[in-house]
Amino acid sequence: MKSAFVPRLINGPFGDPGLYVSLRWLGRALLFDLGNIERIPGPAIARVSHVFVSHTHLDHFIGFDRMLRIFLSRDTELTLFGPAGIVRNVAGKLRGYTWNLVENYSFSLLVHEVSSDKIVRCRFRARTGFEAEEIDEQPFSGVLHSEASLWVEAAILDHKIPCLAFALHEPTRLNIRTDALRQLGVPPGRWLSELKQRIRESAPEDTPIYARWRDQGEERVQEFRLGDLRRQLVLETPGTKICYVVDAIFHKENAQRIVELARGADLFFCESLFLDRDRQEASKRYHLTARQAGTLARLAEVRELRTFHFSPRYSGQAQRLVAEAQATFLGELPPDEP
Ligand SMILES: [Zn+2]
Ligand SMILES: [Zn+2]
Repeated sequence: MKSAFVPRLINGPFGDPGLYVSLRWLGRALLFDLGNIERIPGPAIARVSHVFVSHTHLDHFIGFDRMLRIFLSRDTELTLFGPAGIVRNVAGKLRGYTWNLVENYSFSLLVHEVSSDKIVRCRFRARTGFEAEEIDEQPFSGVLHSEASLWVEAAILDHKIPCLAFALHEPTRLNIRTDALRQLGVPPGRWLSELKQRIRESAPEDTPIYARWRDQGEERVQEFRLGDLRRQLVLETPGTKICYVVDAIFHKENAQRIVELARGADLFFCESLFLDRDRQEASKRYHLTARQAGTLARLAEVRELRTFHFSPRYSGQAQRLVAEAQATFLGELPPDEP
């Protein structure tokens, strides 16, 4: 069965960084970074439920206005995560406009400001002219958001300012073996969802599961044990993991945090603004080189590395940045040392 995540970089490798992840079957999407999002059609933006902003440098945040415009007349709440200072940045953006005649708008923005030990939540409602309303504070221990079909983790990196890196996880996929079900002689039904639910909750092996169905107008019930059904019927496949890392200097602490976050990812999106030959410039500007991205991908043992966010100085030479990162990832070039 396919992964629930369909990720797509918003722009080319020299454009503003950003990742749009469609959530198959859920009819909505997640957005990582808010740079230039002109290339995402309006209806696709309207499907976004959660936005994850790494930091508010222009190339990661200028798309806020386009998003706001699309959402303003919608009857929904958009959830946004960002690093220390995000509440002030969002408030500043919102104060740039005049808000009257919006009393009947029900749109709101729920902002989560993430720092090393806590998340401060703040709501901005259209009908109040987007006055900031602080809601609460929650402890932060790595997980930003969690629901039945996915969860998102974050690490705080050093980009001379805090910059969030993200990992999107899909829980283990549970599929029913149709042949085994046929052998069991019980028709499929809602009881299979209950079985999956109990497995996800790590319920004990001897938990009873009742299969209920109708046979010629008569209600039938058969009792099974969760452990037996799990072995006989359920095919378990690890869920997909996608990691998104932008704008960070290559030092020990960052490298460690990135490798931990990206460990075993199926797909690792990593910035690489510079080539190795310009490594001095990369450190000075708190960015990674292609070789450093390849090193991190190799250390984290990811399955696939995709580099992006290339400096315009290499315009027309994207292939060189890609080749350097991939060769390091595959071990054909020596890794860099943080
Ligand atoms: Zn930056
Ligand atoms: Zn950037």
